[in-house]
Amino acid sequence: PVLRVAIMGLGGYGTRVAEAMKSCVKAKLVGVISGTPSKIKDWQAKYSIPEKNCYNYENFDEIKNNPDIDAIYVITPNALHYDQVIRVAKAGKHVICEKPMAVNAKEGQEMIDACKKANVKLLVGYRMHFEPKTLEVIRLRNAGEFGKIMFFQGQCGFKIGDPAQWRLNKKLAGGGAMMDIGIYAINGSRYMVGEEPVWVTAQETKTNPQIFKEGVDETIQFQMGFPSGAVASYLSSYNINYLDRFYLVGEKGFAEMQPSTGYGPIKGRTHKGELTQPHITHQTVQMEEMAGIILEGKEPIVPVNGEEALKDLKIIDAIYLAAKTGKKIPLKL
Ligand code: NAD
Repeated sequence: PVLRVAIMGLGGYGTRVAEAMKSCVKAKLVGVISGTPSKIKDWQAKYSIPEKNCYNYENFDEIKNNPDIDAIYVITPNALHYDQVIRVAKAGKHVICEKPMAVNAKEGQEMIDACKKANVKLLVGYRMHFEPKTLEVIRLRNAGEFGKIMFFQGQCGFKIGDPAQWRLNKKLAGGGAMMDIGIYAINGSRYMVGEEPVWVTAQETKTNPQIFKEGVDETIQFQMGFPSGAVASYLSSYNINYLDRFYLVGEKGFAEMQPSTGYGPIKGRTHKGELTQPHITHQTVQMEEMAGIILEGKEPIVPVNGEEALKDLKIIDAIYLAAKTGKKIPLKL
């Protein structure tokens, strides 16, 4: 069986996913949801999408009556995911939603509940969870190769351009760098350390309040602690380039990835040598694996469901609170 997917939001990342899906065997792009008729026309021509599988943001609830679409991949600005995912669930279709799943944990929980109630699957676009070098580090950790995990360092950021873009608009982005790129360090630490954090502290730096307005974080350093006693330190920024690095240290060894979460190829080494697993376009593997999860009930090595994404949202809520209050915030995931 093939997972028949419609993409909602035909922007930069939607385009990347559509191109990557051309190489999928188990997933196929069959529909679009867009507010721009000219984009729909382009995509129809490019991907042979029939007219009956084209929708806009007003009428997409009608997908309910379309038996030729199995799942909708929501790839719109962060703050729109909440409403859109709930509408897709009510239309009875499986949902794949881009990260961050929502802009806070409360909305994330409601999205999970809506999908449960509608009996549809909710998956989140955590493409690194299928990346071969990343999975090899996780395998080595589980095999005890690093010994007891002591420390993780995660640095994720880039210099954001155009000040008019939605990523710098709190209403659409839900926040700043943390929502967009810092989330990779948060999520990465959870799969690299292999535990859920129990506390967080955070410090925010803002050098340009004209571009990074109220509620849009520019740079946040934060720290987390894990039940085993492992500690982690992080940097999330919209004002520093070349920040894409993970460093995991155990009593018997280490893993270093740089780049660690970019589109790849990911590069990494451990105390034993270079990681040599092949690069495969992340979004191709992701969609192939997600088709397996939805159609065959396959279990991924690192979860990509709503509950997994909710943990990141709870951590982000706590980071913002920690940065605002200067307090150490306990976490209950
Ligand atoms: P983008 O700006 O390139 O595309 C967003 C699309 O949403 C555009 O086509 C735009 O027309 C559409 N849109 C619909 N309603 C809109 C509205 N009210 N305001 C503004 N735009 C609206 O952004 P993108 O880079 O494609 O990001 C989309 C989502 O994908 C975000 O949630 C982002 O975090 C996520 N993303 C994930 C990855 C990844 O590696 N997993 C990479 C990039 C982006």
